[in-house]
Amino acid sequence: MTAAPPTLKYLNGYPPHLLADVRRMLDEGRLGSTLRQRYPQAHEVRTDGALYDYVAALKARHMRNAGQISKVGYDNRLRVIQHALGTHTTVSRVQGDKLKAKREIRVASLFRDAPAPFLKMIVVHELAHLKEREHDKPFYALCTHMEPDYHQLEFDLRLWLTARDVEGAEAGRAGPDEDS
Ligand SMILES: [Zn+2]
Repeated sequence: MTAAPPTLKYLNGYPPHLLADVRRMLDEGRLGSTLRQRYPQAHEVRTDGALYDYVAALKARHMRNAGQISKVGYDNRLRVIQHALGTHTTVSRVQGDKLKAKREIRVASLFRDAPAPFLKMIVVHELAHLKEREHDKPFYALCTHMEPDYHQLEFDLRLWLTARDVEGAEAGRAGPDEDS
């Protein structure tokens, strides 16, 4: 594979001037390092059990009345895929099985190694889906209620995913674990 222009697939829908900034930082090789400086803190949610506790604590604080969650875990088969909505990337997924009224929150395994604020953003996003299915105003109101910096974190998370893809491709040439 020859070096292709970096893909900004995680940033669909963001304004062109922002994308130009991102491209310049990628060209200069400083997107990843900038994000590491801005978000130095790792988290210690390493296991499915720890993730369950983490989700349960946030839910108890903000969404006590939402339906029960039957299962929480990291999933290394879960790919970071784009939503049909265009501006949204699903980085984890809620599966609602209406027949059994069970909810499952799965978080892509790559977020084990993400900065702590990004894990919170992901979990907040998925908790909000317990009540709001679409990415609409009520949905984002719930997200910002749980995490006031939600929008900034979502944007920076997209930058992090972008940097991870580009740096991964440069370092190993195999690309990250996202092939079909
Ligand atoms: Zn979503």
